Amino acid sequence: MSALEIHQFPCLSDNYGYLVHDKVSGETAAIDTPDADKILSEAKVKGWDITQIWNTHWHPDHTGGNLKIKDETGCVIIGPAGEEEKIPGLDRAVQQDSIVNLGAYTARIFDLPGHTLGHIAYIMEDEPVAFVGDTLFALGCGRLFEGSAEQMWQSLSKLKALSEETMVYCAHEYTAANAKFALTIEPENPDLKAYSARVDALRADGQPTVPTSIAKELAANPFLRADVPALQSAMGHSGDAVATFAEIRKRKDNF
Ligand code: ZN
Ligand code: FE
Repeated sequence: MSALEIHQFPCLSDNYGYLVHDKVSGETAAIDTPDADKILSEAKVKGWDITQIWNTHWHPDHTGGNLKIKDETGCVIIGPAGEEEKIPGLDRAVQQDSIVNLGAYTARIFDLPGHTLGHIAYIMEDEPVAFVGDTLFALGCGRLFEGSAEQMWQSLSKLKALSEETMVYCAHEYTAANAKFALTIEPENPDLKAYSARVDALRADGQPTVPTSIAKELAANPFLRADVPALQSAMGHSGDAVATFAEIRKRKDNF
């Protein structure tokens, strides 16, 4: 059995907080800090001491609790080099292929520009686990606040290349709305229809739809499928994944 435990809980209106705990070393990392009080109280219930914060990008619903948690725990804050001056309390700036340790576990950093220009993900090396912030969502992807469609497509392509069993821990519960939109793009995709039905059942039962997996997203997430010929032609951009991705993103922004 793995010594790595991931505790997931809702924060704010639709964020998820994650505490990642290594039983051997006792180290615990908070993945982003949507709500300091909630994260501190969840850690207390678990009996875990937060030793690190791993930020994915500078947005306040990801870094807003940094200073309070650091103040109360003395933890180290790790975040994207590209957003160094925007991350409260940052101790260590990391970028593509930097290695971050949690006890004996290691996470590799992926640079994923698009939602913000400095956005990063933490890809666990010994476990099929990825913390992707606001880049990839279940059946969706982050809005392009700072980057271009081409940058985001390249970033999503890096995540597409992860092993299919990788569990994807995204930062928001947006899946039900994403499913409604995805069905307008690929109404006949049987994997999407089945996925959407599961999402409706989970949400009706008050259950999270996150984490998801790379396999599930490859089969049903239209934003990862901009390289599928049938979808390209449906969007009017045969042979052009970037233009197809941009069209899907534009339609979602107006949905
Ligand atoms: Zn964000
Ligand atoms: Fe966010």
